[in-house]
Amino acid sequence: MSECIFCAIVEGEIPGRTVYETDEVLAFLDVNPLAEGHTLVIPKAHHERVTDMPESLAAEVMRGVYHVTEAVEAAVDAEGATIAFNDGEAAGQEVPHVHAHVIPRWHGDGGGPIHAIAGERPDLTDEELDDVAERITARL
Ligand code: AMP
Ligand code: ZN
Repeated sequence: MSECIFCAIVEGEIPGRTVYETDEVLAFLDVNPLAEGHTLVIPKAHHERVTDMPESLAAEVMRGVYHVTEAVEAAVDAEGATIAFNDGEAAGQEVPHVHAHVIPRWHGDGGGPIHAIAGERPDLTDEELDDVAERITARL
């Protein structure tokens, strides 16, 4: 039995409501949905964080997200979707196997935008913004 719950779903050791599958990617319904149609898209290979995946696999996961989002929205007649990764424990990731959440959304559904999930906004000067942009660019 796999130690990782999502690897166990990939291996068929525990059941999952699979909606999409390729050689490298699997998507299945979230067992505790935030909305009807809430779906998780995962790489079949075990990687904890988004940047632990090889770039080509990350692209395949995004391809899955693209197709799944279109299908989920149509299936539940959604008006939009929140598409997000909790990437790392500090960001609220509970299952340490990378997964994209595709959560259908409707006007007035009581949910918030992605801006609502971060802590207090930092008060950065123009110089500080220039500096952080430079530091990011230097690493790309
Ligand atoms: P996260 O906090 O981003 O790690 O989210 C983990 C998600 O996995 C939660 O939304 C859970 O409801 C979902 N989840 C946990 N176990 C299962 C399972 N066996 N099958 C489907 N979804 C699961
Ligand atoms: Zn895993």
